[in-house]
Amino acid sequence: MKRFKIYRIFSKQLLWYYPYAWGDTFPSCHPLLGVHHSPINLDDQMVRNESLGPLHLEGFDEIQTGHWTLQNDGHSVLLHVGSGMSVSGGGLPDVYHTIQLHFHWGGPATNGSEHTVDRRRYPMEVHIVSMKSIHPNVTAALEDPTGLAVLGFFIDVVYADNVHFGHISQKLSSVAYKGQTTKVKPFPLMSLLPKHNMTQYYRYYGSLTTPPCAQAVVWTLYEVPIYISWSQLAQFTSQIFSTEEDAEQVTPLQNNFRHIHPTFSRIVSVSKDAKLLTGTAGHPLRSALSVHLLQIILLGSFVSRL
Ligand SMILES: [Zn+2]
Repeated sequence: MKRFKIYRIFSKQLLWYYPYAWGDTFPSCHPLLGVHHSPINLDDQMVRNESLGPLHLEGFDEIQTGHWTLQNDGHSVLLHVGSGMSVSGGGLPDVYHTIQLHFHWGGPATNGSEHTVDRRRYPMEVHIVSMKSIHPNVTAALEDPTGLAVLGFFIDVVYADNVHFGHISQKLSSVAYKGQTTKVKPFPLMSLLPKHNMTQYYRYYGSLTTPPCAQAVVWTLYEVPIYISWSQLAQFTSQIFSTEEDAEQVTPLQNNFRHIHPTFSRIVSVSKDAKLLTGTAGHPLRSALSVHLLQIILLGSFVSRL
């Protein structure tokens, strides 16, 4: 009986977390039915584009009026940010209104960014999702190959808490279970971001990384990560659940990232100011690697105690 229960939970996870199964329910997610899927691996095959300057992030420096809403939808934690912010410039074809941001993560001992850098994952990734202003709703935007603009930031781990990230992480316990929401007092979104390195990014055309996997996204991936503490990371990997509060069996929400897709003939561009990975790989790779190593050491010491 117990075994059956575990199987049932596992198969429910498959719908979302085993990507080839997505293709059965959402044909547009089938990785062979399209060449613009996301995420991708970032390597040294990128091409410099001197015309890619800084994006204009309208309202990101201000405290928005009203309140924001943090939500656990069973697949991620989302922060709905109202309608006061927009993204343009930096080679984007239009103005995009910012709707929400959400997170991808791994488990207590595994990394979970969606994009990878030379095949290595960062601990987490945050996506700031904006919709082209000409569209009345997201459904319409998904029909447009450049209908959405997503700003992606890797999240790496250090020993000090990120005070600004605390605006979100301190509220996580209120959305531990699927379906829960809580109000968040608006704060300047820029305070979360690597504000001195906002001209260093990569650009490519791809898809949503969750069903319906629409190939409608202009991706901007920033080179320099956001840093949070180990305990702030652990709040995501250990204290968020994909099940409702009254569920018979509680399931942690972990590894909510989609597998890497081929770039095919796509060009991944590098902004004017970005340091190409071959030149700067040292920093992000070394830090991602050090996380891996520390985790292996910690895991090793844990296992040896058993
Ligand atoms: Zn995402």
